[in-house]
Amino acid sequence: MRTDRYSIVSLLRETVRGHTGWKPAWRDAAPAARYDVIIVGGGGHGLATAFYLASRYGIRNVAVVEKGWIGGGNVGRNTTIVRSNYLLPGNVPFYEQSMKLWEGLEQDINYNAMVSQRGVLNLFHSDAQRNAYVRRGNAMRLHGVDAELLDAGTVRRKLPFLNFDDARFPILGGLLQPRGGTVRHDAVAWGYARAADRLGVDIIQNCEVTGFLTEGGRVTGVETTRGPIGAGKVGLACAGNSSRVASMAGLRLPIESHVLQAFVSEGLKPFIDCVVTFGAGHFYISQSDKGGLVFGGDIDGYNSYAQRGNMPVIEDVCEGGMALMPRIGRVRLLRHWGGLMDMSMDGSPIIDRTPRDGLYLNAGWCYGGFKATPASGLCFAHLLARDEPHAVATAYRLDRFARGAVIDEKGMGAQPNLH
Ligand SMILES: Cc1cc2nc3c(=O)[nH]c(=O)nc-3n(C[C@H](O)[C@H](O)[C@H](O)COP(=O)(O)OP(=O)(O)OC[C@H]3O[C@@H](n4cnc5c(N)ncnc54)[C@H](O)[C@@H]3O)c2cc1C
Repeated sequence: MRTDRYSIVSLLRETVRGHTGWKPAWRDAAPAARYDVIIVGGGGHGLATAFYLASRYGIRNVAVVEKGWIGGGNVGRNTTIVRSNYLLPGNVPFYEQSMKLWEGLEQDINYNAMVSQRGVLNLFHSDAQRNAYVRRGNAMRLHGVDAELLDAGTVRRKLPFLNFDDARFPILGGLLQPRGGTVRHDAVAWGYARAADRLGVDIIQNCEVTGFLTEGGRVTGVETTRGPIGAGKVGLACAGNSSRVASMAGLRLPIESHVLQAFVSEGLKPFIDCVVTFGAGHFYISQSDKGGLVFGGDIDGYNSYAQRGNMPVIEDVCEGGMALMPRIGRVRLLRHWGGLMDMSMDGSPIIDRTPRDGLYLNAGWCYGGFKATPASGLCFAHLLARDEPHAVATAYRLDRFARGAVIDEKGMGAQPNLH
């Protein structure tokens, strides 16, 4: 087990040595014949699960098997927003648990993930929308989550460049979660990978799972492009590829895969000091520490496994941006990309055992899964270690769609393309 810690002492030591002593953040592990637990998918959720299995549940004979490279999936493609401003009882405690874990994450994993609690502000543009946000804010406060209702004057003093007096979408105020904010997305993958590796977890990149080993109906391991690997338990954390991987075990999931795009502008001087969401369209924006405007909107609206989007959504996102802050029209776009969303039928996730013995599922994160990364890892580790759901994830059952116990936070019904 490795013991090198990042600290001011190690930084000074390496400065004196000309930075010749840094070790790779994690080992390039080759697959062993067998593990107690194999996690399929080296995204944020898979790596966090491995870290909590090792650190909180003492299960260290663990492998994370990733078909590409760590951070190449959605964990490194999202718009970095974290928050716990949920409404429904099935969701609020889970996302608040995640927020608390974000607050201690850098100490837990000894890694600078640039956790920035700069606040998330949801704007409202009508009396009906204000009522909905008052209700949401009250639900949050009843659960001990921070929420503040801001009037138009306060929002105007905070963000004077927004389009307040637009005839169609006047800004009447906003619901602020001060503890929400942003976290550097790929640092989350690297930090969890390094911390898990230090506890003995094998992180195996360029190793695609192509099937499952079974004995008498029980899943006993995985077939991979680097050979078969045995396991006591197998956990799936494959995000946008969940349905594809689960189908190899004969499971049909209540999930559709859709593309979501993200956009980054050229670097500008700091002028947006929080995350802002436009309530009259689907548009959200923040400013990165490098100065780029990071923004996004809707999913592309058709099923796909391609990690790239199309022009109509680019146009739609830019229209949202122009309606909210017309000055964005003068800014040049630097780059944009797409990721794969595992859209569940009610917009809420699944952390559960599957009908196949030995096979466990973590999926259905839609486009809100980055903020869930720490709690998802903790709850999935708990399930894998104890065979029972964690107290804050009891609602995330796989059979809830058959039972009618859906957690429809947005009230959209079984419409994955609307969640
Ligand atoms: C553009 C965009 C913006 C977003 N913005 C936000 C946001 O602001 N806030 C928020 O909370 N969420 C956001 N999300 C959603 C969030 O990024 C995802 O819900 C979350 O990252 C999914 O979990 P993950 O990190 O484990 O996924 P991933 O990083 O995708 O991990 C899954 C891994 O499984 C691997 N895999 C798949 N199949 C196999 C196989 N057969 N064998 C081995 N490995 C396999 C993949 O290669 C991948 O690395 C956004 C997503 C996108 C694309």
